[in-house]
Amino acid sequence: MAKRDYYDVLGISKGASADEIKKGYRTKAKELHPDRNADNPKAEEQFKEANEAHEVLKDAEKKAAYDRYGHAAFEGGMGGGGRQGGGFGGGQGQGDFGSAFSDIFDDLFGDFAGQRGGGGRRAARGSDLRYNLHVSLEDAFSGLQKQINVPTSISCDPCNGSGAEGGAEPSTCPTCSGMGKVRAQQGFFTVERTCPTCSGLGQIINNPCKSCGGAGRVEKERALSVNIPAGVETGTRIRLAGEGEAGMRGGPAGDLYIFIEVSDHELFERDGVNLFCRVPVSMSTAALGGSIEVPTIDGGRGRVQIPSGSQSGRQMRLRSKGMPALRGGSAGDMFIELAVETPVNLTSRQKELLKEFDELSSENNPESSSFFSSVKSFWDSMKG
Ligand SMILES: [Zn+2]
Ligand SMILES: [Zn+2]
Repeated sequence: MAKRDYYDVLGISKGASADEIKKGYRTKAKELHPDRNADNPKAEEQFKEANEAHEVLKDAEKKAAYDRYGHAAFEGGMGGGGRQGGGFGGGQGQGDFGSAFSDIFDDLFGDFAGQRGGGGRRAARGSDLRYNLHVSLEDAFSGLQKQINVPTSISCDPCNGSGAEGGAEPSTCPTCSGMGKVRAQQGFFTVERTCPTCSGLGQIINNPCKSCGGAGRVEKERALSVNIPAGVETGTRIRLAGEGEAGMRGGPAGDLYIFIEVSDHELFERDGVNLFCRVPVSMSTAALGGSIEVPTIDGGRGRVQIPSGSQSGRQMRLRSKGMPALRGGSAGDMFIELAVETPVNLTSRQKELLKEFDELSSENNPESSSFFSSVKSFWDSMKG
């Protein structure tokens, strides 16, 4: 279906002023608003159409393009289906529109805007690179300086990134006279296309560099020293500006993104800045109370007091023994969950004592109070 004229869509005349455009759009938007047109299936389409028309006409630059080229101003260079998916819909997707537009503008007006002087080169920016880096929990705790080898492409040395043998300057493309674009008649419109001879670079290389084949960059593994700050987590990204792939023919380099993945730890589980670990406690320590030593992530040891009558699963806290906060703020805590161990491989004397304990227990009846003590220890742990 042919697209309707934007001015017709808004019910205004071609020479309409900014105010008239705004007025026309408001009238249409009111008339076609989905809330008022529940039983008119066409209204939604027309509403979107009015939005689209308004998006273009309210913007002086876009309006100028439309006045000059009609709908063709916004076609081509969009890639497959870029615009069809309702990206203009009221409210959503307008960002898409904006970015798609700037691309096209570059396409259409690059030479009019005078950005490229006579035969100026158009060098392409290099790609961003992603590097996955595994670090241990200990390293995430302390932070580290890490040497990494990044497979990337760097500016070619022999031709100094120009792509021409011996560092000679490339010559202006004869097809497009260095514009990078050629004009073609399409229907009623004159449209611009990327130059097929130089792929839009505006320059050609008569004698390509033997090292890089004319690209101006070569594949290489590059050693980088990366500073990993303390407190990183799985999913943390570190951006190294300009450390990505080299640009084509001397264009700016892309960025390198380091994606951190923190490996699981055999003792500690992490939840944000807090650490958890399960620590075995002997039955007698749990019953009588005492203190136990626990390993901490900084490589040291901490001491935890166990109150008498502690049940399995009780949580103790070591303040500030968790992970550091990546973006400032206080460090996390370490939570220690007690795992009371049932004794095994008893000697006959130990068995004897336990039997005696059992007999005394039927008098003292500790079982009936264990429920209350477990409730109590739960509340204690909640209070920290
Ligand atoms: Zn060309
Ligand atoms: Zn080269």
